[in-house]
Amino acid sequence: MNRALFLDRDGVINQEVNYAHRPDQIVFVEGIFDLCHAAQNLGYFLIVVTNQAGIGRGYYTEAQFHHLTQWIDYQFKDRGILLHETYFCPDHPDHGLGPYKKESFDRKPHPGMILKGIEKYGLSPESSLMIGDRETDMQAARAACIGTKLLLCPEKPQQTDADCWITGLHQGMEYL
Ligand SMILES: [Mg+2]
Repeated sequence: MNRALFLDRDGVINQEVNYAHRPDQIVFVEGIFDLCHAAQNLGYFLIVVTNQAGIGRGYYTEAQFHHLTQWIDYQFKDRGILLHETYFCPDHPDHGLGPYKKESFDRKPHPGMILKGIEKYGLSPESSLMIGDRETDMQAARAACIGTKLLLCPEKPQQTDADCWITGLHQGMEYL
């Protein structure tokens, strides 16, 4: 059965800054490439699931988001890592503008993005992992019946904590 490592983006792949949407705003969390490499070697698909309400709020466009996603994909590819998919949700129920103002099943804590990955890649949710830095990431994973859920820095993401935490994790991947 196929399995995946689902990753939140902001605060897990890159250090949290408010509404990052350009490459110059991206600082990768230390150890994230080692972790993804280890997961890839163990046969996990790598799938990013990211709320991007900054689009709905009008802070940046979908085109800017896709440009940044391509750039991030390239940084991983350059290190021999394939990110199979990046799912994003641009909507916000209260602050979205125009068509973006809506409840979305894709917006975490709802599991829509994870369920799309499970469907597309024929994944066993129980054998899959989710790493996030917010409780909403965990709620989404729980709702999608993801077997292993790892929460970084529950309240306020602090980059140093995330860095330390991720750095050691790849060594334990095979035991998860
Ligand atoms: Mg996050």
